[in-house]
Formats: sequence, structure tokens, C-alpha cells
Amino acid sequence: MSSVSPIQIPSRLPLLLTHEGVLLPGSTMRTSVDSARNLQLVRSRLLKGTSLQSTILGVIPNTPDPASDAQDLPPLHRIGTAALAVQVVGSNWPKPHYTLLITGLCRFQIVQVLKEKPYPVAEVEQLDRLEEFPNASKTREELGELSEQFYKYAVQILDAVSLEERFKMTIPLLVRQIEGLKLLQKTRKHKQDDDKRVIAIRPIRRITHIPGTLEDEDEDEDHDDIVMLEKKIRTSSMPEQAHKVCVKEIKRLKKMPQSMPEYALTRNYLELMVELPWNKSTTDRLDIRAARILLDNDHYAMEKLKKRVLEYLAVRQLKNNLKGPILCFVGPPGVGKTSVGRSVAKTLGREFHRIALGGVCDQSDIRGHRRTYVGSMPGRIINGLKTVGVNNPVFLLDEVDKLGKSLQGDPAAALLEVLDPEQNHNFTDHYLNVAFDLSQVLFIATANTTATIPPALLDRMEIIQVPGYTQEEKIEIAHRHLIPKQLEQHGLTPQQIQIPQVTTLDIITRYTREAGVRSLDRKFGAICRAVAVKVAEGPHKEAKLDRSNVAEGEGCKEHILEDAKSESVSDTTDLGLPPEMPILIDFHALKDILGPPMYEMEVSERLSQPGVAIGLAWTPLGGEIMFVEASRMDGEGQLTLTGQLGDVMKESAHLAISWLRSNAKKYHLTNASGSFDLLDNTDIHLHFPAGAVTKDGPSAGVTIVTCLASLFSGRLVRSDVAMTGEITLRGLVLPVGGIKDKVLAAHRAGLKRVIIPQRNEKDLEEIPGNVRQDLSFVTAGCLDEVLNAAFDGGFTVKTRPGLLNSKL
Ligand code: ADP
Repeated sequence: MSSVSPIQIPSRLPLLLTHEGVLLPGSTMRTSVDSARNLQLVRSRLLKGTSLQSTILGVIPNTPDPASDAQDLPPLHRIGTAALAVQVVGSNWPKPHYTLLITGLCRFQIVQVLKEKPYPVAEVEQLDRLEEFPNASKTREELGELSEQFYKYAVQILDAVSLEERFKMTIPLLVRQIEGLKLLQKTRKHKQDDDKRVIAIRPIRRITHIPGTLEDEDEDEDHDDIVMLEKKIRTSSMPEQAHKVCVKEIKRLKKMPQSMPEYALTRNYLELMVELPWNKSTTDRLDIRAARILLDNDHYAMEKLKKRVLEYLAVRQLKNNLKGPILCFVGPPGVGKTSVGRSVAKTLGREFHRIALGGVCDQSDIRGHRRTYVGSMPGRIINGLKTVGVNNPVFLLDEVDKLGKSLQGDPAAALLEVLDPEQNHNFTDHYLNVAFDLSQVLFIATANTTATIPPALLDRMEIIQVPGYTQEEKIEIAHRHLIPKQLEQHGLTPQQIQIPQVTTLDIITRYTREAGVRSLDRKFGAICRAVAVKVAEGPHKEAKLDRSNVAEGEGCKEHILEDAKSESVSDTTDLGLPPEMPILIDFHALKDILGPPMYEMEVSERLSQPGVAIGLAWTPLGGEIMFVEASRMDGEGQLTLTGQLGDVMKESAHLAISWLRSNAKKYHLTNASGSFDLLDNTDIHLHFPAGAVTKDGPSAGVTIVTCLASLFSGRLVRSDVAMTGEITLRGLVLPVGGIKDKVLAAHRAGLKRVIIPQRNEKDLEEIPGNVRQDLSFVTAGCLDEVLNAAFDGGFTVKTRPGLLNSKL
């Protein structure tokens, strides 16, 4: 091509290798720059000093190559397009990336590559000029826009340097391509238009009521519903104010198109309003004698609670109103708090509804969300009323001690309003936004501890403590209530299954460790399920299996133990049960169904070395025995405490050590090197096992003293003794709380002697007679007395002359 172009390109061009398309003279293209070679070129030629326009690049189409960043320059296409960089956009972060807008000027041909790195530069020869064929260039642009897949043809066109050749090649190709692509575009556009039309039709139909359509039927139904709703509002016995609101809302609803989100919202609201039991109630039937019988029939023991509940009901009957404190049953889980609540509802002939408050930390949970919020709904009180359908149910507010607090307001404050007889006839839920009269609702609350009940709430309540049960009480509860209930639930009869009392005792002592009876109840459930499988399987297969087991005697035990590893009910077909009905649940069967015992008596084992003592702790879940372990080692008088202790507990530990140090001579306590200075060259480590449970409170004082006294004297603490009591620096023992629960825990653990502070003696009256018989109590006013009772043969100097003589 010898014609002289008005645009003279330099004879040396930096080469930009593109794989995103072919730039033809006269057209414009965006290309992204990400290969190292091109990045270098952009940086040194386009971004440094000189203005963009002044740099002419040689753009060479490069076949897309996954290894484009490879060090070696790929074989270059011989012909390229000289181009101007019109724009560079991009950034250096997080990694360099640019996009170039380039306009093709004219063809060139590579004469020779002058250098390859950091980016290729070539000596070039200009091949054509642009202006001569404006039409062709226009067509080319059109093509460029239409197709990105045109690489192969485009390169051929690029290579056709002679005009004639180029024309021949491009025109038919272009025409065919353009037609094809236009057709494709047209089809796509049609489809989009159709889609749009379909979407647009729906709302139009809703408004214009095109007869005979599906939507029309829906609409009719909706219309009927609205008429019904209106009728319900008219006939509802809701108070004047609520009625007014409903009438206003239904008017609004009728004018609203159904597609509006507010339509559903308003309709839900109105449906709730007509459903609420504004004036619907059950008639109380209170007969105190019948109530007593019912409470006794449903619950074993818990005399104090039943007595108090009956008093409460009697007063209600006489006064005929509900004003007065709210009853709050406080005790460990599974002691029958909910169950008594349910019985109260039953005696009164009222509906019962439980509202779980554990973890509630948003006041809208109680009082509802305002209707302006998306997803707004009424609070639990109004929801509960809707569920029971009457306005005088018994509401059990479960776990008031576990109410939380958050930025969304204090739920306790909302609850106060609910419980306050002066205010609650006018309770306004945010969602309803009209007052609902709660004065006929009977509220009963439950909690595990009073410590975390918000004080203002506590003030409104009358606390009734429900302590844990003794083993004997549990056995009675199990056989009178739990087992019959479980049998019934599983469709079993006493003719099919028998659980003797010794088995129940085994479950209580070896498979559960709780103050209440909830896990005990669950264990019976598991037994019933396993037996139900056997009963359903029929006697034949079972009889054969079992006989072989029984005949094998000892071997049978091993076999059962192996099976017991798997807890699945379906694996219980090999139970070592007698073949005839009823199926007797003995200890072997128990192991087979429930697995190996979870709690074995480990007390004596753990007390087999000096430096261990058993304390008694109170937790919201009931009383528990707590081991305290101590060890000493060479050191500098440091005290290390582990086992998640609170501050008060840590103080007790320091008090105990100080007291022992000051009395070391008196009791002849020495460190490892025989010195009375107990901390001389000695570190002490005190550990309270069960590290997952946070422990605090002063009542471990006496146990820590005993444990350390054992460590420094080298004597063992009696293995059957547990203790509780706060200590002072002077060695006095101060009273503590939770004596009944603690004593029951000691009894559960099979201990025989309990040391309590002298001033807690009166609390022993609450302990059931049979427990008192099993245990011996030592009431201690000072630490001397505690130590004397904790060690065999006493601990004080007087009682150990032999030992003293030998050491002195
Ligand atoms: P809580 O509300 O105290 O956690 P529940 O009322 O849920 O305990 O009691 C758990 C189960 O134990 C219930 O099936 C209940 O009937 C039973 N139960 C608890 N105490 C007694 C009792 N004294 N007599 C009969 N059943 C009891």
C-alpha cells in the first residue's frame, strides 16, 4: 500500500498485545490491561509525564492464551493497527489493573522486533490510510459493536492490506453477519417486550376487573371475607373504643388495593381484633375441698406449697377478686412448679397457658410491636389470650428470673404493668393500640432463684419456695405419678411392664443427679419406649432370645454390657428380660436400655488422700455436693485458685489460710520441711472441680479450712462427712442459706454426717423425718468444732495426745 496517509505513525512502536478482540483502523475498543508486559507498557508510556495522545501504540491481536504472562514473547501476528490511547482508567490496589480505550488509526506491519522486555518494541512500516473508505469503516464499527466472537474474520480483514482484497473479503461477510445478528437481537427484544407485557397486565387487571379471569375469583373471595369481617366487627362485643378503631380500619381496608402491603397488615389486625376474647370468659367453679383433693391427687408431698395455694384460692373465693400479690413458685427445675400451676387452673375450671420468659430481653415480646413496623405482631400476653380464647385464663409466667435486658427496653417494666392490678385493666399492647382488660387473668410466676428476679417485680410477688425432693419422695412420686403417666402415654399396662422400687432407686442414684424429677421422668420414658418395641414385636422371638441369655448366667451380663454401648432403642431386642409378661425392669435391663450408669458413688475413692474435703453448695438447680482439693509444692508462698470462682469464694480461701497459719502451732500443722510457717517455701493450689460451673458464695469457708487442715496435717477427712458454713478471721462459723437443699444433696450422695453452722439449727426442722433419721448433724459455732467433727477421733490437740507426743 503505497498511498501516503495524512497520519504519519512513528517507525518504532511499543506493542500492545490484546486478546479481547481485534482493533481495526477507525474503530474504538476497550481493552483491559492485566498482563505484566502490557502493564509495563502502560506505566512507562502512558502514565509517565507525556500526555496520552502523544503516544501511539502498535496493537497486535494475540490469540487468547492462558499463559499470557509467560516470560517469552509469543509469536507475534505480523500485521497490527497503530492506535491512540484515548483514556486510561484503573487502579493500583489491590493489584494493578487498567482499562485502555484505544482508537485504531491505520495498519502497520512489523519489520522487526527491536526489544522484547519489559514490553516489546518493533520497527514498523505503515500500511494504509483511513479516510478513503468511510463506509467500510462505518460497517466495521457496526460489526465491532455487534460481535465479540468475530476474531477469526477480523484478523483476516486486518491482514487484507490491498483495498480490493479487503472489500471482497469484508462486504459479504459483514452483510451476512449484520443480518444474522440483527435477527438475533430482534428476537431477544421481542421476548423481553412480551415478558414486560405479562407483568404489566396483572395490576391492570386487579384494578379494572376484567371479567372471567382467575384473579377475579380470588377477588370475589376476598370481597366475601371483607364482608364477613365487617359483620364480625359489628356483632363483636368489643369495647366502644376498640370498636371505633375497627370501623375506621375496615373503611380504610375497603378502599385499599389488595396489592398494597398495608392491605394484609390491616386485615390481619382486624382479624385479631375480632378474634380476641374481649368479653368471653369461663365460669369459675371453686370448691376448696375439691381443690384440695385435686392437688393431693396430682402431687405427692410439697405440703407447704399446696397449703399456700389453697389459702390463696380460699381468700380469692371469699373476697371474690384477684387483687393481691402474684404467687411465685421458686425452686429447682422439675419439682412440679408448672404442674401445680396447671392444677390451679383445673380446680378453677379455667384455661391454662404457659408463657416462657427465659431469655426474653425485648419489651415488645411482652407488649407487642407497633403496627408501623414490617412484621409487627402482638406481644405474648395478647397472643396467649387469642390462643386460649377467654379473658380469664391462668397464665403461668415461666422463669421470671431469666428475663433479660437490652436496648429494646426492659421487659420487666412491661411485665410490671401487666401484673399491677391498678393498671392492668387498661393494658395497651403496642400492636393493638387499644386497651385490653387483663384484670380477670390469674397470673402465677415461676423461677429457679429469687436472686435474679428484678426487684420491682419481686416486690409484687409472694414467693413460695419449692425445695427439691428426697430419694424416698422421688420413689413415691415415680410410682404414684410418673410411671403411670408414662405407661399411659406409651400404650402400656402394668400387666406388660413392672418397674420395682429398687430399680427406681437405681435410676435416681446412678442415672440422674437432680433436685427435681424431670430426668427421672425422661428415663422412664426411655424404658417405656424400649419395652413398647418388645411388646410390639410379640413374645415368640423375644422368648427364645431371652431364655438363651438367662441360661448363660454370667455370660449374659457381658453380652448385655456390650449391647449397652449403643443407646438406640432398636438395639434393645437382646434385653436380658424374662420371657413372660410382665417384663420386669431389673438393673441388667436398666443398663441395657439406659447404658452404663452415669454416676457411680465415687466419694470414698476421692477422699482417699489428704487434702480433699466435701462441701455443700446451693445452686438454682438445687443443692449439690462439692469437692475441694488442695495440694502443696515448693514455692514462695503463692496461693493458686482454680475452678471458676467468684470473688467471695476467693476471699474465703484467703481467710482460711490466714486462720490456719495463725493456728498452725495449736494444731501442729507444718509445711513439708516441718516449719509452722505454712507458706514458707511452699505454694498452695486449691481446686474446685466441675470447672464449667461458676461458684461463689461464702459457704465454702469451712470446707476450705478442713481441706487445708487435712493437707498440712497429712490426715484424711472422714469420707462420710459434708459441710457448709461461712468463716471469720477469728475462727467463728456463721450461718448460710439453702440448708434444706444442701442436706438433701448430702443425703442423695449417700453421706452420713453433715456439719452446719450452729445458727442454722432451726433450718433442720424443714428436713423430712426420714432424711433426718439417715443423717447425723453436727452444729458448729467455731472452726475447732468443725475440724473435730470432720476427722475421725477429732482434730484438736487434746484429743490427739499420741500424735503430739510423737512429733514433739
Ligand atoms: P417445674 O415446672 O418445677 O420445672 P414440672 O412441673 O414441669 O417442673 O414437673 C416435671 C414433671 O414432674 C411433671 O410431669 C410433673 O407432673 C412431675 N412432678 C413434679 N413434682 C411432682 C409431685 N410432687 N408429684 C407428682 N408429680 C410431680
